[in-house]
Amino acid sequence: MTSKIVLITGASSGIGAATARRLAADGHHVVLGARRVDRLAALVGELRAAGGTAEHRELDVTSLGSVRAFVEGAHDRHGHIDVLINNAGVMSLATLDALRIDEWNQMIDVNLRGTLNGIAAVLPLMRARGRGHIVNVASTAGHRVDPTAAVYCATKYAVRAISEGLRQESRDIRVTVVSPGYTHSELNDHGGDPQIRAAALAASLELGLPAAAVADAIGHAIAQPDTVDTNEIVIRSTAQG
Ligand code: NDP
Repeated sequence: MTSKIVLITGASSGIGAATARRLAADGHHVVLGARRVDRLAALVGELRAAGGTAEHRELDVTSLGSVRAFVEGAHDRHGHIDVLINNAGVMSLATLDALRIDEWNQMIDVNLRGTLNGIAAVLPLMRARGRGHIVNVASTAGHRVDPTAAVYCATKYAVRAISEGLRQESRDIRVTVVSPGYTHSELNDHGGDPQIRAAALAASLELGLPAAAVADAIGHAIAQPDTVDTNEIVIRSTAQG
């Protein structure tokens, strides 16, 4: 398989870290971004010890400047970028009447604006090269609104809409949306109503996929030839229903 330069946002835990492991094992060079650089440095060490190649950089996807520095730094070092995986995300579960407005804004800033920042940073470089692949991690929450998840779902519906728009505008760049169901990760560790969070955590522990299963789905899309654009993969545990 051809080795690709693959950038992954939100690579410090969960699906992003699992994807880094899978893609490095496939022989790709992974460039990892997140805010917790200690986690990223440890993961880079692990990947290198296993024979892979990897690097990391501090990244806050809510800042266009930070995303541009992440993308353009990798482009300067490697001469091109094959794949950007917009994976960073946050989820705060609560009813709307709880008015957790700061958490609404954080979900919009990370999940939606963060994805747009990634597209803004990488699209001119991929268009100039005439090829590239953007993978956006949405969710089954982008297909169905669940109680207490209205704003999270709205951001994931938006990620799917933006991905479809980008796909329609593109004849040179592949666009893939990956929509997982419950997945074991740290997503449910912060924010939201504590009781709702505890219930969601229990459901996720019972019904969740290992993050490696989602990483395998991303790896599958990346492995296709340039002429084959896997537009969306919806993946959930058989038990989720
Ligand atoms: P985790 O919480 O384990 O990982 C989220 C990642 O996002 C972390 O690496 C975190 O890194 C990063 N992140 C958060 N905020 C920022 C920011 N401002 N800038 C850069 N990175 C940021 O959860 P998951 O692995 O589950 O989440 C990955 C994606 O999968 C998300 O988009 C999520 O919505 C989606 N998803 C998850 C599902 C699940 O059940 N777990 C189901 C469907 C979709 P750091 O804090 O170090 O910055």
